[in-house]
Amino acid sequence: MTVYLDHAATTPVLPHVVEAIAETMRAVGNPSSLHTSGRAARAVVEDARERIAACLGSRPSEIVLTSGGTESDNIAVKGTVWAASAQDPARRRIVASGVEHHAVLDPVTALVEAGDAEVTWVEPGPCGLVAAQDVLAAVDEDPGSVALVTVMWANNEVGTVQDVATIAAGCRERGVRFHTDAVQAVAHLPVDLGAAGVDLAAVSAHKLGGPVGVGALHVARDLRPMPLSHGGGQERDIRSGTLDAAGAVGLALALEHAVEHRAAESARLAALRDRVLSGALALDLGIEVTGCWEPGDTTTRLANNAHLLVPGCSGDSLLYLLDAQGIEVSTGSACQAGVPRPSHVVLAMGYDPEVARGSLRISLGSTSTEDDVERFLAALPEVVERARRAGGAA
Ligand code: PLP
Repeated sequence: MTVYLDHAATTPVLPHVVEAIAETMRAVGNPSSLHTSGRAARAVVEDARERIAACLGSRPSEIVLTSGGTESDNIAVKGTVWAASAQDPARRRIVASGVEHHAVLDPVTALVEAGDAEVTWVEPGPCGLVAAQDVLAAVDEDPGSVALVTVMWANNEVGTVQDVATIAAGCRERGVRFHTDAVQAVAHLPVDLGAAGVDLAAVSAHKLGGPVGVGALHVARDLRPMPLSHGGGQERDIRSGTLDAAGAVGLALALEHAVEHRAAESARLAALRDRVLSGALALDLGIEVTGCWEPGDTTTRLANNAHLLVPGCSGDSLLYLLDAQGIEVSTGSACQAGVPRPSHVVLAMGYDPEVARGSLRISLGSTSTEDDVERFLAALPEVVERARRAGGAA
């Protein structure tokens, strides 16, 4: 049996979610059509939207359905910056953390390269935490120039949870817009977007037991990012395209399941995570734990994230050797897999590129068991030795 320890890349779709999606797909009807079938499909979408909003502490009118985290982040970054600078040409600066996922990092860079924005990067401390005061100090350099501040809720590689509430409150006081990529957070942390006071937040279904290709962007009611694609004007004209009723149902059910089981599941996964981390350290292989870690803690590090630095070999070698034994892990972000570059997140935390090369991410989820963890730990010494003997070349 394969040991799947890559739930941060994607996690199995829950069986009852598969059933509900299939059931919804059996009905015909474009939610924008005015006839009976269209209105029935629209009712399904609006019911799902209400449930999604309730899980996130949003209002239904603030939920824009999208194709996933990447699209949500792109609309948030490009759409908000374009809208802000169209209104006031002086507002073209982005304040962004250096540990963002590529779904945020790359749109920011693309805007800068196109001459549409400037960026102030805010780097994290050694455990991956971006200090709220550093973010706000970057804003304070010239608040009138800021089009958007973007800091992710929880990091996909090292699991560090950021202080989004303080950053959001500071941005609000200064009259600047704040986006957070909450893709990795919603399955494992209480996320109340209304209480946190964020303007924009990205969510993705396939990270929490829903289908790939569905997500949402929370957009505060007084904000109107420019659309990236033009068409039928659906979703407040922010995201045109025929509404995906089955996908919306899948996201709503997966979110409801996550919220209902979050406390118990977080405690269960944190115990498995702690066993991965303490077990790897006890092997005496010179392994380091990356990120903030207190055993039992589920507030500063995601309950499902273990990230290791293994000296003297490359994470890619470890990944393939583990895979040959039926154990599936990651070197970091799935979106970077195959690219033999040290992770920008680990580098931003101050590690040397040679050390960062040995990154290994073990991420847990609904199907993870103690047996999975023990099989991983049992395989690790020989795998590390072979990877080191291979010369550690990536
Ligand atoms: N943001 C974060 C933090 C992620 O981990 C991911 C997926 O790896 C994404 C965005 C992209 O989400 P999606 O796969 O739904 O496009």
